[in-house]
Amino acid sequence: MDTLWSPWRMKYMMSQERSEECIFCKAATEEATVENLVVLRRKLAFVILNRFPYTTGHIMIVPYVHVDTIEKLDSATRSELMDVMAEMMILLRELYHPQAFNIGANIGMEAGAGIAGHVHLHVVPRWAGDTNFMSTIGETRVLPEELVDTFQRIRDRLI
Ligand SMILES: [Zn+2]
Repeated sequence: MDTLWSPWRMKYMMSQERSEECIFCKAATEEATVENLVVLRRKLAFVILNRFPYTTGHIMIVPYVHVDTIEKLDSATRSELMDVMAEMMILLRELYHPQAFNIGANIGMEAGAGIAGHVHLHVVPRWAGDTNFMSTIGETRVLPEELVDTFQRIRDRLI
């Protein structure tokens, strides 16, 4: 599991150290743009692209409330997180035709959370063989779609 999350985890940890401000709380108050990668807002939660995606279409579903674990969320927020997750899975299936998904959360730094203070759910579309996309130099590397393109494709579907 640590291998799964580590490439972007380190970058997030480093970016966290540079800023006192929680990037999810900041993004929650901003207009959705390609800069902050927010693609959808709902009443209690929003959706943001992972800046360091494990695969194309890797998104995060984030409650507006800043708490560090799921059991501190109220029932309505937990419910909306799951509803938005299902909505996004439908959209990602239509856009990218993944064969499978990883969904889940890293609760706490020791579990690999990059932004441990603000709980969030990951949705990672998966295809057979995609684990090789960050493979070593010299092998064929399947590049993921550019983030700006992913942002636009998802936004186009939601509008
Ligand atoms: Zn926050």
